[in-house]
Amino acid sequence: MNKRVAVIGAGVAGITAASILQENGVSVTVFEKSRGVGGRMATRKSRTGYEFDHGAPFFTVHSPSFLNTTQTGNWANHVGVWDVNDPDKQVPYFVGEPMMKSPIEALAAKLKISLNARITKIHRTNGKWGLTIEHNDHKDIYDMVVVAAPAFQVHQLTRFSKRLTGQLSQVNMTPCWALLVSVNTPAHHRGPVFVPKTGPISFIARNSSKAGRDSKRDVWVAHASPAWSQTNLELDPEDAISHLHPVLNSIIGSSEANPPYISAHRWRYANVAQAAGTPFLKDETASLFAAGDWCLGPGVEHAFASGEAVAQSILST
Ligand SMILES: Cc1cc2nc3c(=O)[nH]c(=O)nc-3n(C[C@H](O)[C@H](O)[C@H](O)COP(=O)(O)OP(=O)(O)OC[C@H]3O[C@@H](n4cnc5c(N)ncnc54)[C@H](O)[C@@H]3O)c2cc1C
Repeated sequence: MNKRVAVIGAGVAGITAASILQENGVSVTVFEKSRGVGGRMATRKSRTGYEFDHGAPFFTVHSPSFLNTTQTGNWANHVGVWDVNDPDKQVPYFVGEPMMKSPIEALAAKLKISLNARITKIHRTNGKWGLTIEHNDHKDIYDMVVVAAPAFQVHQLTRFSKRLTGQLSQVNMTPCWALLVSVNTPAHHRGPVFVPKTGPISFIARNSSKAGRDSKRDVWVAHASPAWSQTNLELDPEDAISHLHPVLNSIIGSSEANPPYISAHRWRYANVAQAAGTPFLKDETASLFAAGDWCLGPGVEHAFASGEAVAQSILST
């Protein structure tokens, strides 16, 4: 296929779409606003070497296609099973290994990617698409563009399309404050995962208990509930820490007031509460596409399915 495609966003959806297109001979360039790839399959490294998967803590696999993908090639070399010791669990919890973002980094290594490249405008030019990066026009033009970002960010770039705007308005994504803490004295609570039923924190992971992590460092990630995160969305990180840290300490049985590392990260668009109900969106010209987890549901597998579907649609045109 003799076409040039730009993919905006280097999360699971964007990197999946770009990889499939490139494998099938399409010329693809990925643009990512951050300094690394993975999107919400994210890992933060502290200067002192602590690692926190502060976005998706794990993912599940249901579809044959995703199962096949995660068992072969770049995914297979970077995926492990997280033994969470929960007999009620219906399916395995998979993690990127050694970091959550590792499988996406491995895939991305084969792609042409522009990092630190925030796209601020997409415009039509002579029947093709031009891009503006941080208010500077990018010289190349593309036959097709895939915007693989959270729904609100897709909307910001594609307001000129009535069709996309209409379908995007159905989607709802909730925020999440994530608290990242390492402790010196191993915390009393030993379980890899804890899901409090009440209070501001709704999920706790002992990050250091995952496959491929340094288990000698006791490292925790807690997610505030969607309701607490929404109410406290505009807090400073320091204030989020002062609210959430004592709660985490009481649950995991730690008394450390000044841990070696602590920070808070706000995900403004973390989880999909209402999906579009279709694998991807397409504008009136059938050459501008939107993809991401929000198309199908709240998880890594949904993002993968969306990226795969949009690539297959482009290849079939
Ligand atoms: C706190 C939290 C907990 C989660 N828990 C789970 C879980 O337990 N299980 C699970 O399966 N999933 C979970 N998820 C969801 C999972 O992380 C997502 O479903 C998946 O990673 C989404 O991938 P994506 O490619 O659709 O979007 P993203 O990962 O968001 O990727 C979009 C990319 O686009 C980039 N971008 C956006 N706008 C622009 C622009 N203008 N220019 C250039 N680049 C841009 C972003 O920087 C980002 O890298 C969780 C997410 C969070 C945040």
